[in-house]
Amino acid sequence: MNYKILDVKEQLLEENDILAASNRKALQRNGTLLINLMGSPGAGKTSVLLRLIAALKEEYKIGVLEADVDSDVDAKAVSDAGAKAVQLHTGGLCHMDAAMTAQGLEALGLAGLDLVFLENVGNLVCPAEFDVGADLRMMILSVPEGDDKPLKYPLMFTVSDLMLVNKIDTAPIFDFDFEAAVSRARACNPKIRVFPVSAKTGAGFEDLAACLRAALAERRPKP
Ligand code: MG
Ligand code: ZN
Repeated sequence: MNYKILDVKEQLLEENDILAASNRKALQRNGTLLINLMGSPGAGKTSVLLRLIAALKEEYKIGVLEADVDSDVDAKAVSDAGAKAVQLHTGGLCHMDAAMTAQGLEALGLAGLDLVFLENVGNLVCPAEFDVGADLRMMILSVPEGDDKPLKYPLMFTVSDLMLVNKIDTAPIFDFDFEAAVSRARACNPKIRVFPVSAKTGAGFEDLAACLRAALAERRPKP
């Protein structure tokens, strides 16, 4: 064999981990909590964000990085809701990595922000592979996607700290087995915390907001 084969992805991932660690340090210095929000297109990432912004904006300064292949509809929505927003166009790339997140955080400006959400590009595959330096990884499984998703995309469930089961109000229509979805997710990750929610009705958001408040209190103890 007279040619080399380089595992480029592996190398990129190593570089990514170094940058992710530097993002994490910058966030810690500023007392800012970063949440990486992931899920399929249509799972309700932006609708969930709008609910969380409404629940938390009186107590905390919130920033949002909206990653999308194109368009700025989501950045407009979260900015209208009261968050400081930056739209990131990934130029066709299907996930966010730590370098892109660093650029986004710099554009957003961390000073004064307690909480930043990164709305990742919609898919359940590669966003799970890239550590962006977030303190929490929060993924959404929406009921219409089916209770078998943890079997098909195990890495997403393995790396996530929080699993939101969104559109829970539609569970009877879609014949969604909540217990089966949870036990399949826990088979990937026994520690995953599960929150059934409905961004449409607002159900479940008190518990989720309480969980985020606890994480925020740890990051920035109130005087
Ligand atoms: Mg969105
Ligand atoms: Zn990708």
